[in-house]
Amino acid sequence: MTTKLTVRQFFERFPDEDACLDHIMSVRFGGLRHVCRACGVESTFHRLSHRRAYSCANCADHVYPTAGTIFQDTRTPLVSWFYAIYLFVVTRHGVSGKELERALGVTYKTAYRMGMQIRKLMAKADGFDMLQGHVEIDEAYVGGRRSGGKRGRGAPGKTIVRA
Ligand SMILES: [Zn+2]
Repeated sequence: MTTKLTVRQFFERFPDEDACLDHIMSVRFGGLRHVCRACGVESTFHRLSHRRAYSCANCADHVYPTAGTIFQDTRTPLVSWFYAIYLFVVTRHGVSGKELERALGVTYKTAYRMGMQIRKLMAKADGFDMLQGHVEIDEAYVGGRRSGGKRGRGAPGKTIVRA
């Protein structure tokens, strides 16, 4: 696909928390089946209920895919975060706290904070460093402010929103 995700496509792709968490998991660790960092065995990972975590079927080690990201301690649903990022991506010029408040149905305070964090990441010279990497939607490079260093798809595969 060469066109950007429409809003409808976005919500088909990221309909709920599980879809978002699975996406972060797959971006950062390589999916629900990958070589476990704890036991070194290629294993299947099962979602733990009530936690943003997965468990290795072989050694029961827990993996928290949001650790070290802006999603780490948030009580805001991941879907809201993803949608906020999506809005930043498609508008390109940024999204105000008021717009986020309306679009996400969160308080202005929450919207403002989310916007600040997303903007901060976007402003980094390293580009949109959402998950120790960059953000794309449908291969449309996000951030646009990236200068030097690794670029776009050549950077380590750490995209968070990708069609
Ligand atoms: Zn393991």
